Amino acid sequence: MKHEIDVIVIGGGHAGAEAAQASWRAGARTLLVTHRFDRLGEMSCNPAIGGLGKGHLVREIDAMDGVMGRVADAAGIQFRLLNRRKGPAVQGPRTQADRALYRAAMQREFTGTDGLTVLEAEVEDLIQKQERAVGVRLSDGTQLRAAAVVLTTGTFLRGVIHIGDRKQPGGRMGDRPANALGQRIEAMGLPLGRLKTGTPPRLDGRSIDWSGLEMQPADEEPVLFSFLSGAPVNRQVDCGITHTNERTHDIIRRNLDRSAMYGGHIDGVGPRYCPSIEDKVLRFSDKGAHQIFLEPEGLSDATVYPNGISTSLPVDVQEEYVRSIKGLETARILQPGYAIEYDYVDPRALRHTLELKDCPGLFLAGQINGTTGYEEAAAQGLVAGLNAARLALGQDIVTFDRAEAYIGVLVDDLVTRGVSEPYRMFTSRAEFRLSLRADNADQRLTPKAVDLGCVSEQRRTAFERKMEALAKARNLSGVLSVTPSQARAKGLAVNEDGQRRTALELLSYRDVSWADLCDVWPELGDVAEEIVAQLERDARYAGYLDRQARDAADLRKEESTVLPQDFPYHSVHGLSSELGEKLARIRPETLAQAGRIEGMTPAALTLILGELRRHRRKSA
Ligand code: FAD
Repeated sequence: MKHEIDVIVIGGGHAGAEAAQASWRAGARTLLVTHRFDRLGEMSCNPAIGGLGKGHLVREIDAMDGVMGRVADAAGIQFRLLNRRKGPAVQGPRTQADRALYRAAMQREFTGTDGLTVLEAEVEDLIQKQERAVGVRLSDGTQLRAAAVVLTTGTFLRGVIHIGDRKQPGGRMGDRPANALGQRIEAMGLPLGRLKTGTPPRLDGRSIDWSGLEMQPADEEPVLFSFLSGAPVNRQVDCGITHTNERTHDIIRRNLDRSAMYGGHIDGVGPRYCPSIEDKVLRFSDKGAHQIFLEPEGLSDATVYPNGISTSLPVDVQEEYVRSIKGLETARILQPGYAIEYDYVDPRALRHTLELKDCPGLFLAGQINGTTGYEEAAAQGLVAGLNAARLALGQDIVTFDRAEAYIGVLVDDLVTRGVSEPYRMFTSRAEFRLSLRADNADQRLTPKAVDLGCVSEQRRTAFERKMEALAKARNLSGVLSVTPSQARAKGLAVNEDGQRRTALELLSYRDVSWADLCDVWPELGDVAEEIVAQLERDARYAGYLDRQARDAADLRKEESTVLPQDFPYHSVHGLSSELGEKLARIRPETLAQAGRIEGMTPAALTLILGELRRHRRKSA
């Protein structure tokens, strides 16, 4: 049957926006059905994009010509490269974003787009023909048909908001939940679970005493998200830093039974990596203070987001503990913190394309798959949107593997291991993280996107120009060479082993920079700054990549290795105490079984393997 629409995307959150854009770029006539156009680009929680692991995902989305990176660049008011002092593999670009500018930039991406339309409506039902999804029914009874449907309802499926012992239905504050659709999904027999997440109270920045607080400025040399962006377009602002104290903790402890999370009002599991202040006070009872970043929500908005104190305590307790904190003694709460509980679908019901195994034509992306975070949602949206379009157009599927992209790690973790708590990305989840760097996302993925035909002409030509310049500089520095004594005469410390070394090889040495090479070969001075920076990063990592491949092969070889039942997980150096506890409790029998434990990372497995070998050597 011929449809006027190829792909329908339900939900205009971070997953839905990226899915609709990807589907459209891939050539499918796409309809995005969402409650409200003016909520497109809404950040339900913190006003920031990126960070460790998450920033990598945004770079990869951008490399595939997705929208999140350039929207974040248009809204960025404090760009910071996290882990700047560590190696590029674990550096994560992040920006504080102006909420209103982010929404506006996202909404602009949906304006004047021929073949991509937004419809403000509520989807209540999915239309199926035999097992296959063939369309949706709206709350006014209208039926819309398409060859593929992408479902991205976030925290809205049977969402319930909790503040202390008060609860009300809601998809997030100010939005109603999607109850009818939730019931329909349950009736379809999909494996459902319940998760929860929370957000802090929002403060009036004019009521904060900033004078005694430490301030954190933006980076002097900002690193943006999009490979097509230049410098920041907005004024950059500072964040304040303050801390909870013993009095704050006493107030929280005294009122724990009134917290929705601890008073027994919520069944869902919360994000371990983004704990509420109640969680922190209980779980880390030996810590006398917890850091709070006071993040402005916009350039012309006085609202401040206190990052680090999400809560589901009643409003009067929120007021009391907020005012016990330095700088916040007279702070006014503009919107109380709250927790939300919602349905998610066990992602093991999905293929690597994010299509449901038991319902062809229906793709799921975002928080509905048990993840948390805008970036994780958007990355899944990209995968689901591309595949929905390709299914509709009769083309082959597209997947990402773990060695190619964090997007591949994310999807593979979800569909093979499932989740037992909201899943967020970390660099440690990737066994190939030395090659999956934020700086080389375009080299890894833009050629794939070009092949798939989902890249603008502007990006394609910019990428080709960059690759030409890189190849030219690489070739040139790959033929210029020196003997050890010539190198030493120029002040470059190399072994006297009689081996000639090329300029490119010398660049992989920790203390040799491009500028040093220019002293030897002045002709290298013509290479553009951006290309030099890329060559330096690529060269530094060249040696480590072999080791990474060896580690990965080693792990695969050792999968059947038996782990002793009394293995001392708590004394494995570098293993997080959370994972140590989990392993000690589960006592996996083999390394392969340990690898399947939720939350386990390749880096942690390598540590266990190392300890096991030491163990063996000792007892040999
Ligand atoms: P959403 O952004 O929730 O978007 C869902 C969209 O679907 C909405 O536009 C909605 O209108 C639309 N929709 C839903 N049902 C229908 C329907 N039936 N018909 C039409 N449209 C529909 N992330 C973190 O990383 N850290 C945190 O600490 C954190 N805390 C959070 C706290 C709260 C209270 C909330 C609500 C979210 C929090 N998040 C946090 C999560 C973050 O907001 C989400 O991960 C992200 O927004 C998920 O994107 P999404 O596209 O899956 O869903």
